[in-house]
Amino acid sequence: MNATTETRPFEAEVAQVLHLVTHSLYSHKEIFLRELISNASDACDKLRFEAIGKPDLLGDDSEFHIDVEFDKHAKTVSVRDNGIGMSRDEVIGNLGSIASSGTRRFLESLSGEQQADARLIGQFGVGFYSAFVVADRVTVLSRRAGADAKDGVRWESDGKGEYSLAVEEIPARGTSVILHLKDDDTEFLDNWKLRDLIRKYSDHVAFPIRMRKQKDGKPTEEWETVNDASALWAKSKSEIGDDDYKAFYKSLGHDFSDPLAWTHNRVEGAQRFTTLLYIPAQPPFDLLMGARDERRGVKLYIKRVFIMDAAEELLPNYLRFVRGVVDADDLPLNVSREILQHNRQIERIKASCVKRVLDLIEKLAKDEPEKFKTFCKAFGNTLKEGIVEDPSSRERIARLLRFASTKGEGAEQNVSLDDYVARMQPGQDAIWYVTADSYRAAAGSPQLEAFKAKGIEVLLMFDRIDEWIMGQFAEYAGKPFRNVAKGDLPLDEADRKKQEEIAKEAEPLLKKLKDLLGDRVTDVKVSARLTDSPSCLALSDYDLAPHLARLLREAGQDVPESKHTLEINPAHALVKRVESETDEARAKDLALLLLEQAEITAGAQLPDPAAFVQRMNRLLSA
Ligand code: ADP
Ligand code: MG
Repeated sequence: MNATTETRPFEAEVAQVLHLVTHSLYSHKEIFLRELISNASDACDKLRFEAIGKPDLLGDDSEFHIDVEFDKHAKTVSVRDNGIGMSRDEVIGNLGSIASSGTRRFLESLSGEQQADARLIGQFGVGFYSAFVVADRVTVLSRRAGADAKDGVRWESDGKGEYSLAVEEIPARGTSVILHLKDDDTEFLDNWKLRDLIRKYSDHVAFPIRMRKQKDGKPTEEWETVNDASALWAKSKSEIGDDDYKAFYKSLGHDFSDPLAWTHNRVEGAQRFTTLLYIPAQPPFDLLMGARDERRGVKLYIKRVFIMDAAEELLPNYLRFVRGVVDADDLPLNVSREILQHNRQIERIKASCVKRVLDLIEKLAKDEPEKFKTFCKAFGNTLKEGIVEDPSSRERIARLLRFASTKGEGAEQNVSLDDYVARMQPGQDAIWYVTADSYRAAAGSPQLEAFKAKGIEVLLMFDRIDEWIMGQFAEYAGKPFRNVAKGDLPLDEADRKKQEEIAKEAEPLLKKLKDLLGDRVTDVKVSARLTDSPSCLALSDYDLAPHLARLLREAGQDVPESKHTLEINPAHALVKRVESETDEARAKDLALLLLEQAEITAGAQLPDPAAFVQRMNRLLSA
């Protein structure tokens, strides 16, 4: 402590994160080292990048390294880097508050009772605060590259709610993080333990991570590099084992678990670049949260120099689950994000990434059915967006999609469009589907009845984006897609005759219903879709599906009230009752009930639920 020491409170959210992290990670304590080394490595990357334009920042210290030390007597472990360092303001901003809105959303997503499990926490990156899992006091000494020695900063906290800040003379640029270990965590004061952890979690950090050579159980003056310290993606495939690939994936951050699959390629020729891309085994936290705005996960390097996180520039949105590294040989090091967004070389690299990832998924579909199933479960709905987003890959993507179907196994999404086409009935010329907001609602749609009776398969779609996708997905393998709830059904000659006869016979009934329902419907028709249910809605090609209209309204959008055509099944007892009912009021109740049950099964919201219930009760007690 000196005269300039000041004490400040953490932002409320930091306190919350600290609490969560320290209470959820006790079974994964050791990851603190990975997190601190990862920050040190980021700091070296940042300085190396900044020094491209300002070489003076490096001074005579241009070899980056990360040094890990321990002191048995003081009970400290420290991680030191000669990277970018932090100014006083940066220390306050980076260590005292939470800048990332991802972290904020993460916190909001946790309900009061819920325990954040280690997996979830690991995915969003616990970062610096994991230090407090093993330390009851953390000291950070930092000096920004280019700043004077006297402008060093000393930050210290017990992780309880406050930190102290002081100016301190610091001889060299960079950051030291010193952990004063809790009495229970002195196991980390061990040369072999630390070396093991470095190799386990940080072997592929591209900077040397050094520890002191030991002699007679005591540290010497001499440093030695503990990790592999080379860029894994730059090695040739034959030198890299599966375990190396897996370890590198984990060192990219955001996932404790093994990746599902990866693809590693070197492109030579007019333009040279390397891609190493991974598919995770489970959706990361930000994908679950639909955070389209902040995409991380694909790092752009130029000739081994880390440039920036460039997931958005290097991959289309529908492949946002992909993680990895792209290293380009031919881009200028001082490239900016703006340049990246309009760069022909980047366009070509992006196209190559898309191709590689689709190749990889195709390979899974062909050779590794179990993994492919995992993939579909985790990312099938994300991939599906590509139908709209990337028309040039539409065929390839369509072949990889899997759906639930009336001939599939329950809600399981495992029917491909090729399966469907191969099972089409003689004379069937369209791929039929139904959309709803859940599997049950889709499978229970009355519109399916005639299809079931004829043995025609129908794809059951119940993802929110399906309506939107199908609106732009006109055909597959030359077969048009058709919604079972829309338009007229194509009938064969005999069926059409029969249908006409029924309609003719039902004319007085249809007129009665139209009069009773008035402007609640656009029309009333005899249905060719129904066998068991009394009624259903028929939509026009331009109608918004009722379940979607409801979802949009719930999301606060202004969706106009829409009217539909009501289709009825004249053979059904309830319909017959309307026909024979002479009491005007009761006939109206029955007619509205036919309409409202059709609306409910279509997922619409009833305009007046209370009136519906009263009507039902009147009829039941009559
Ligand atoms: P993340 O690494 O995901 O950004 P962290 O909690 O690990 O989150 O770190 C928070 C921030 O603190 C970093 O983004 C960085 O700006 C700063 N920081 C942490 N460690 C260092 C370091 N060794 N050198 C420079 N800055 C650092
Ligand atoms: Mg970090």
